[in-house]
Amino acid sequence: MLPRAACRVLAGKLCQFSGRTARYHGQSEWEQSSHSCTDNPRILITGSLGQLGPVMAHFLREKYSVDNVIMSDIIKPTKEIAESGPYIFADVLDFKGLQRIVVMHRIDWIIHFSALLSAIGEQNVPLAVRVNIEGAHNVIELAKQYRLKLFLPSTIGAFGPESPRNPTPNVTIQRPKTIYGVSKVHAELMGEYYHYRFGLDFRCLRFPGVISSDPPGGGTTDYAVAIFFESLREKLFECYLRPDTRLPMMYIEDCKRAIWEYMVTPSEKLKRRVYNVTAMSFTPEELVTAIRKHIPSLKITYNPDSRQNIADSWPCVFDDSEARNDWGWSHNYDINKLVETMIRDVRNKMEAS
Ligand code: NAD
Repeated sequence: MLPRAACRVLAGKLCQFSGRTARYHGQSEWEQSSHSCTDNPRILITGSLGQLGPVMAHFLREKYSVDNVIMSDIIKPTKEIAESGPYIFADVLDFKGLQRIVVMHRIDWIIHFSALLSAIGEQNVPLAVRVNIEGAHNVIELAKQYRLKLFLPSTIGAFGPESPRNPTPNVTIQRPKTIYGVSKVHAELMGEYYHYRFGLDFRCLRFPGVISSDPPGGGTTDYAVAIFFESLREKLFECYLRPDTRLPMMYIEDCKRAIWEYMVTPSEKLKRRVYNVTAMSFTPEELVTAIRKHIPSLKITYNPDSRQNIADSWPCVFDDSEARNDWGWSHNYDINKLVETMIRDVRNKMEAS
């Protein structure tokens, strides 16, 4: 909660603007204007040392300057990250600490990446509940209190075996069977509720498996990253999913661009606050065929583990037509372009290390 004195200051400010506090969705014009800063926003990225954070930070720093994008996490940054721009400690379970950061760094947007992903979440359910649910509560409440624009990613894992899987539409039954999925449905609903109840500028995209040359965080689609490293190193890969397991996927360049394009879309264009986005869908077998065009000697074995059960409950093909219609989402990378780019990226990374 905001301290009482701060509430009084906010209440006073609202009074000063009493001539223009016409409310809709419970939101005043003053509140709207204070979080519509898209020209040069100051941005906090939580959980920024995972797979998506560094790439997103780099992208946003090119758009809005290095100093305007503050990376944060609870782990120690590499020298390269520490020297690349502002980096601070932020535990999403510490609400007061988050308040201090928003105030001291004059934050306008939050990109909330902190989470325990699907496979890791199943190994430590109590921690996943805390980080994914309590952490999302903190960030949503924080964004409401300080009128911040909030981006929170959801996932194909927010669907379950009772959802239509081919294709999975934007609005359908959601009964996920992992704590990761349950926590993401919860975050989607809380964000939507805060939007309609308090006018929070909440934006959420449901991503498929994101593929990049950075280490993934323990999700069910991680095989589609690991296979590139093993293809170049040993030319031998053991896959933990069956060869015919079809899952939606996206290259990181499309992922970061989707987030930014969605964040700068004027509110009036958005018919909803949670959208499916995707780029392609493939099976391990199809990915191997595409990689063999570049590395013909690649050998693959299949040894499904507990992640197979998770994958079997997830969408095979994601319907993102609403994102395409409402705010012009369109992907650039299909499977062939993805494979070509990943082989180049991973080769460069291996040579550099
Ligand atoms: P990741 O697991 O690689 O990184 C998550 C980060 O959260 C880690 O650096 C971790 O240190 C941090 N974290 C954990 N506990 C924290 C705490 N208490 N306070 C602050 N930070 C904490 O995740 P990612 O792959 O970079 O994904 C980022 C977001 O995107 C997640 O919310 C994830 O659900 C979502 N997403 C990712 C994918 C994907 O394929 N990578 C797909 C769909 C959605």
